[in-house]
Amino acid sequence: MRLATRLALVRERIAAACQRSGRDPASVRIVAVTKTQPAAQVAEAMAAGVDAIGENRVQEAAGKRPHLAPTVPWHLIGPLQRNKARQALELFDVIETVDRPALADRLESLVAPLPRVVPVFLEVNIGGESSKHGVPPAEVESLLSHVLIHCPHLAVQGLMTVPPWSTDPEQVRPYFRQLRHLAEGLAARLGLAKLELSMGMSDDFEVAVEEGASWVRLGRVLFGERQ
Ligand SMILES: *Cc1c(COP(=O)(O)O)cnc(C)c1O
Repeated sequence: MRLATRLALVRERIAAACQRSGRDPASVRIVAVTKTQPAAQVAEAMAAGVDAIGENRVQEAAGKRPHLAPTVPWHLIGPLQRNKARQALELFDVIETVDRPALADRLESLVAPLPRVVPVFLEVNIGGESSKHGVPPAEVESLLSHVLIHCPHLAVQGLMTVPPWSTDPEQVRPYFRQLRHLAEGLAARLGLAKLELSMGMSDDFEVAVEEGASWVRLGRVLFGERQ
C-alpha cells in the first residue's frame, strides 16, 4: 500500500475518533515518525501531507534533513543530552522532550542570542516507569513555572508522553486521560491558554484522540514495521 493511501486511512480513523468524542478533526495533527526510514521515505511522507516529521535521535536527523526541502517542521521526540542541544536546535523546529530545568536552561542560553523562539513540549513520565524519560507528574508544575519564568525564548506548546506499553489500547486510556487532566489543571492554575497534548502512537492513537490528543506520533502505521 502506498504511503499516501495509508495516511488517508489514518486520517479516516482519526476523523472517526473525533466523531465519537465530539472533536474537530482539524484539531489533530500527525507527526510522521521516520526513525530508521531513509530520506526518500521522509520526502514521500512530506509530499503525502503529514503535518510534521518526528525523529528520536539528533544524529539520525543530521543524516537526513540537509537533503530534504524545509516544507514541514521537524520535531525531536527522543531524549536530548545537553551536549547535543546546539545541534538539535540546528536540525529541529520543535523540541518535544524537555524534561528538566537544566535542559531548558541550556536550550534557552543557545536560543537567546538568536531572533528565534523555539516551541517545546514538556515530556511527562505519566506511568512513573524507571525505563522512561520525562518529568514525574508531581514535578511538571515546577518545571513549567521554571520555563515560563526563566526561558523566554522557549514557547511551551503543551505536554508530551510515552505511556506504559500495552497491546490493548484501553489499558493505555487512563494514562492519556491523566495527561489531559494534568494539562487542564496546569493551564487553569497558571492562567495559560490551552496546553496541547502530544500522545498516541500506531497501536493506540484513536484512544489518544478520544482523550484529547492534539498531536499523534505515528511510525509503523504509516511506514510498516521497522527493520
Ligand atoms: C517510535 C516512536 C513513536 C512511533 O511509534 P510507532 O509505534 O511506530 O507508531 C512515537 N513516539 C516516540 C517517542 C517514538 O520513539
